[in-house]
Amino acid sequence: MQYSELAGLYEKLEATSKRLEKTKILADFLKECSAKDVDKIILMVQGLVFPKFEENKIGIASKLVVKALNTATGISSPDIEKSWKKTGDLGLTAEELMKRKRQHTLFSESLSVDKVYKNIRKLAEIEGTGSTDVKMKTISELLTSAKPLETRYIVRLLLEDLRVGLGEGTLRDAIALAYFERKEKKDIDIQNAQGLFGKASELSEIRDKIQQAYDVTNDYAAVAGILMDKGIDYLKKLQLDVFKPVKVMLAQKVKDIDEGFEKVGKPAALEYKYDGFRMLIGKEKDKITIHTRRLENVTKQFPDVVSLIKENVKTESCIIDCEAVGFDAKTKKYVPFQNISQRIKRKYDIDKMSKELPVELNVFDIIYYEGKSMIDEKFENRRKILEKIIKQKELKIRLAEQLITDNKDKAQRFYEKSLNAGNEGIMLKTLNAPYKPGSRVGFMVKLKPVMETLDLVIVAAEWGEGKRAGWLTSFTVACYDEDTDEFLEIGKFGTGIKEKEEEGTSFEELTKLLKPFIISEKGREVIIKPKIVVEIKFEEIQKSPSYSSGYALRFPRLVRIREDRRPDESSALSQIQGMYKEQ
Ligand code: ATP
Repeated sequence: MQYSELAGLYEKLEATSKRLEKTKILADFLKECSAKDVDKIILMVQGLVFPKFEENKIGIASKLVVKALNTATGISSPDIEKSWKKTGDLGLTAEELMKRKRQHTLFSESLSVDKVYKNIRKLAEIEGTGSTDVKMKTISELLTSAKPLETRYIVRLLLEDLRVGLGEGTLRDAIALAYFERKEKKDIDIQNAQGLFGKASELSEIRDKIQQAYDVTNDYAAVAGILMDKGIDYLKKLQLDVFKPVKVMLAQKVKDIDEGFEKVGKPAALEYKYDGFRMLIGKEKDKITIHTRRLENVTKQFPDVVSLIKENVKTESCIIDCEAVGFDAKTKKYVPFQNISQRIKRKYDIDKMSKELPVELNVFDIIYYEGKSMIDEKFENRRKILEKIIKQKELKIRLAEQLITDNKDKAQRFYEKSLNAGNEGIMLKTLNAPYKPGSRVGFMVKLKPVMETLDLVIVAAEWGEGKRAGWLTSFTVACYDEDTDEFLEIGKFGTGIKEKEEEGTSFEELTKLLKPFIISEKGREVIIKPKIVVEIKFEEIQKSPSYSSGYALRFPRLVRIREDRRPDESSALSQIQGMYKEQ
């Protein structure tokens, strides 16, 4: 397939913000694709060339792209940067520059999707001395053989910022519609399709099967590839893979024990809600992999956990779900979540770090056991397997503290006991429910005392003045619109941040974290790529025309940085609408 066709698709998707239109545009495109191209196309419409869970990352800095543009066009880097400041988008800048240049050169052979895909993937493998130069040349070569519109999207792919606004739900629906239309040899009006999705129909069944296959693989490319090539029955063959991450099951919130029982049924399993870092650990014989709930592979950072599993989990193969809680090696006291999150980012001194900040694993679920998926097994049976295979040792590995009860008083006492032990609260779980990857279905709920907070992504900031010059001091935060894959602003915060690092999250720390993601600057204001998620406390949600979400927060302040959250996992607009109504 020619890359120009894909660029045309990107342009159409970018041109509309309506979810239904996007669904139809993508479905029309997919149903004409040859089966062998489908997986590549699906990755690339998500702005990826590697599935999210792969360790390989493109890792290209904007500066290198500027250099490559300079080589490809002959236009000086400062001029390129000037134009980039104006557009706020290096992709658009690249397109403009290429248009200018094209007037002088004759157009050569056309670029294939395959070539773009392979070349960008290749960049991740170039290492060693002189690698920056080789990368730069690879990029400039690619840009030289591209048409202006194509360069817009090559640059955005390189920078992992495609900006065509395609949410996961839209992608899933488009795949379902493409498959259905192709199979039925029909062109379905999108309003009709929406109607079919909304009720029990063959189309909604296809959509649900795609979702299920995605939940266990985290890979729309693989799912769509198999679907379009072999058909819907083959999706069942996509099974859990011990070494690939699954989307973990999430919990809804309840306000008290009564509501908890109401949601999960009686009797229920109550468990301590530990305040640590969620880990999904796969084991097959002596090979162990550890993923976070963001699907990052963190095996290298936790050699201590690998040994723990080898020594204390007695089975050939399994995937277990647990919370790793950090504790101080000297005092044996649990430490706040923040401290252990340092270990996630660590690339050096890993052994030293694992001695200073060891973790205790609190295991609460198992989703794969002895070569078989356990997700359809009842929770109580899954727990029994855990009891059988885990050799418990304090401060090493334990099963989550559990109480099975239908009694409100006992439940209340268990809740208080958990809080007194320093935990965040409790979980209540349905005894006979399956494991539902990736969803907040209500098979487990959480109960904790603190007031409501939101997880929001930082999208802009302002440089401070006087004593705080050199630091970013005021931060604009946004929620996530799942329909359009956009981040919508909801407020600004500047409190809850400390002057000194010892006291908590400091201005310096936030500035350091955000600086690499600055897209453009105007006076004191900077626009920031949505990457860093923070937890924000507030008094109230108000309607407001000042922010693109239509809402504003009263007295927002920082609680903590959420290293464990992907930007698209920040609080959804729909959740905020719900909270506003409840108030
Ligand atoms: P929060 O911000 O409240 O921690 P979250 O949004 O990160 O929640 P939720 O799914 O809403 O995630 O809450 C459940 C989280 O609690 C799990 O992701 C897991 O990390 C943690 N947890 C601690 N103890 C348990 C337990 N016994 N069972 C399940 N999850 C637990």
